[in-house]
Amino acid sequence: MVESTTYKWGNTRRFNAYSNYFRSQFGERVQKLSINAGFTCPNRDGKVSTGGCTYCNNQSFQPAYCQPSKSISEQIQEGISFHRIRYRNASKFLAYFQSYSNTYKPLSELKNLYGEALSQPGVIGLIIGTRPDCVDEEKLNYLAELSRQYYVVLEYGIESVYNQTLQTINRGHDYEIARIMVEKTAGMGIRTSAHFIIGLPGEGSEKLLNTASVISKLPLHTVKFHQLQIVKGSQMEIDYLANPTDFHLFSLHDYLNILVAMIERLNPDIIVERIAGEVSPDYQVNKGWAMRSDQVTQLFENKLKQQDTWQGKYYQ
Ligand code: SF4
Repeated sequence: MVESTTYKWGNTRRFNAYSNYFRSQFGERVQKLSINAGFTCPNRDGKVSTGGCTYCNNQSFQPAYCQPSKSISEQIQEGISFHRIRYRNASKFLAYFQSYSNTYKPLSELKNLYGEALSQPGVIGLIIGTRPDCVDEEKLNYLAELSRQYYVVLEYGIESVYNQTLQTINRGHDYEIARIMVEKTAGMGIRTSAHFIIGLPGEGSEKLLNTASVISKLPLHTVKFHQLQIVKGSQMEIDYLANPTDFHLFSLHDYLNILVAMIERLNPDIIVERIAGEVSPDYQVNKGWAMRSDQVTQLFENKLKQQDTWQGKYYQ
């Protein structure tokens, strides 16, 4: 069957895919390079809490070359070599400040860190992962200024739109602050992204479908979805091993079904950056799906096709 429909985002894929966005903007693949710049976060250092979010262990997703003992330039160079094996031809890169809360230092230090990344050959922009309570007017003004010259994204960990869930996972902030900061950031001309976990305790299909509608109202450039995974070294590992029946971990089949239903309700203007996460088997407490995230994405796209559906089909 020849796929011929061109969707709102200008190509024949059935969701507004991140990789296609980059090809249309920059004419080629753009490779993200993870960086650990030695940040911590207020949910760990005592400002908000000391326990951290219950699902969190930053080691579980960090490539081996990301060590805060190395300079930003070293991590970028090693990241380029690391990815060259898989993506030989990438010549444009985004420095992804990924570990912990990457706006949680004084602005003068942030300027040095971001500036070092942007000075590396081939680096065309920044993706900065942070919490909604770790930015202020001064930092946003600076990022708005940078956004006029570079591709800059502020990526907020939001995880859930339900305050009860956020409390259960010890996020240390509510949904309201997340919404306000997303609106403020986007309103200042900074590309704004958000990360959500699918399958948190207490969130069944009804709540997740509503989540898609709530997200759709946010002025987001991109969104990332990850399935809940119980990671070694997290508080959730202890909670899960003590009371496994408190957790409903999605099978791959059920996850794809709920994700298709969520995507059907999602604003088609929001670029979908990820539909699944990947934790190294060494860090998995529960048995994972034994599948890379790009393979999950392929199954997801097959399902959209089988069901003849697409992102935003039921978006209102
Ligand atoms: S998920 Fe982010 S905000 Fe939560 S404890 Fe980990 S680093 Fe801190």
